[in-house]
Amino acid sequence: MTYFEEPPGVEETFEPQWNRGGSYRKPYTLYRATFIHTPTFETGIVISPNCLVGVNSEGTIDFVREEASQPAGIDGIRLFKQEYTGPVQNLNHFKYVDYSKDCYKFIVPGFIDTHIHASQYPNIGIGLGCPLLDWLNNYTFKLEKRFSDPKEQMELAKLVYTKVINRTLKAGTTCASYFTTIDTKTSKLFADLLLKYGQRGFVGKVCMDHNEEYPEYQEPKDKSLEAMKDLIGYCDGLTNVKPIITPRFAPVCSSSLLKQLGQLAKDCKIPIQTHISENKDEIKLVEGLFPECDNYASVYKDHGLLGSSTILAHAIHLSEKECNVIKKENCSLSHCPTSNSFISSGEAPIHKYLYENKINVSLGTDLSGGYEQSILGVMKHSIMVSHHLAMKTEKSKDKLSIHDVFYMATRAGAIAVGLKDKLGSFEAGKQFDAQLIDLDAIGANTDVFDWQIPKNNEKDKWLDLISKWIFSGDDRNCVKVWVDGNLVVDKLRLGWVLV
Ligand SMILES: [Zn+2]
Repeated sequence: MTYFEEPPGVEETFEPQWNRGGSYRKPYTLYRATFIHTPTFETGIVISPNCLVGVNSEGTIDFVREEASQPAGIDGIRLFKQEYTGPVQNLNHFKYVDYSKDCYKFIVPGFIDTHIHASQYPNIGIGLGCPLLDWLNNYTFKLEKRFSDPKEQMELAKLVYTKVINRTLKAGTTCASYFTTIDTKTSKLFADLLLKYGQRGFVGKVCMDHNEEYPEYQEPKDKSLEAMKDLIGYCDGLTNVKPIITPRFAPVCSSSLLKQLGQLAKDCKIPIQTHISENKDEIKLVEGLFPECDNYASVYKDHGLLGSSTILAHAIHLSEKECNVIKKENCSLSHCPTSNSFISSGEAPIHKYLYENKINVSLGTDLSGGYEQSILGVMKHSIMVSHHLAMKTEKSKDKLSIHDVFYMATRAGAIAVGLKDKLGSFEAGKQFDAQLIDLDAIGANTDVFDWQIPKNNEKDKWLDLISKWIFSGDDRNCVKVWVDGNLVVDKLRLGWVLV
């Protein structure tokens, strides 16, 4: 057995990414650093300074040793050599990466964006205050339709999809549940690009057959179903890129399409994502289109679309009855506060959903209704919106905490995308999807003063630093990103540029 030891503090090198069907063997890697995560909603934020984490060649966390459980005076490499009990024949060499001496750096789980429209990326920041239904007709459908135009579709898709994947990856999003467009060819290209750049992702070819307001952008029901099946076949066998059944939202889908998509999800064991209760006019429209259903949530329930693998985005104006249905069906919500503010849809009562209804609530950027490509920005905005809600309701309990949003950005996201045993926290058996945060990164806004540094690992000071990161940090603080243990972003590497 040969050990390849790097002196503490030496950076990992950027590694080439895998392509379809290909793989390469990563060395076993030991990370020593401050690890911060929320293993469960109840635990709150757990901060583990000087923690030792072993990640095997599959990118799976092999062990986690908190400082308290490490014998005093033994360095990480010696401890590893003494205690490693894995398959020695596979352990050709290992890396040792140490960030524990740098008090500005810490490792957190990769963000999980549970609602994002890849195709709408060029429209970020455009259409301020335009209500949902007008915004769709004036901006969204026009752009999405271009992805079906044979004259420009492949070039356009390559340009936009490359940009959105890299932009979100560099902001720490290791996994995302995407909407593409109704076009299958470019949705397949999107799957290829996820593989190429190493982001874990769900590809949601949009299904819609009843677009009365903008009839140029829809497809016949049977074509929509066939296209979805085609995409499912295309993603078959891929580990990190999966299809997700995506009825856009009830107003643009026939009852028959909704029913058959529900059946398809069941038959193929594929998750589902859609929108719900984003805007009051939209809710009225749904009532008129589906008079036989009790409410908006029931429309999806009655068509077999609700279950533990369903992500419902926005959910701003849910009735108590709908909350009960969603909880009973074990669905997850995706809270999209930047979008809800940008197109003035409303303030979702997230604290109530979390603590009273006990619904799993994750976070979504909802590009481009949302202007913020980073989940860190969405965390900040979630708190601000909850403060505005609390000022209106005069109930301070409506305010979300740092813990709430950290949990929603990571663990709740893992539950929402059906990967709760695989992602969202640092535990043996989970995949190493993580980001290295540096509060002292070049060009960053996060100024930390000497007295604010947790030199003796005081938890209060750490929590203050996390708060500082959320409120004054941005993607510049996210200096490295790993997916499955693969280093997919490395801003510490000389010459690193955004693709
Ligand atoms: Zn959306």
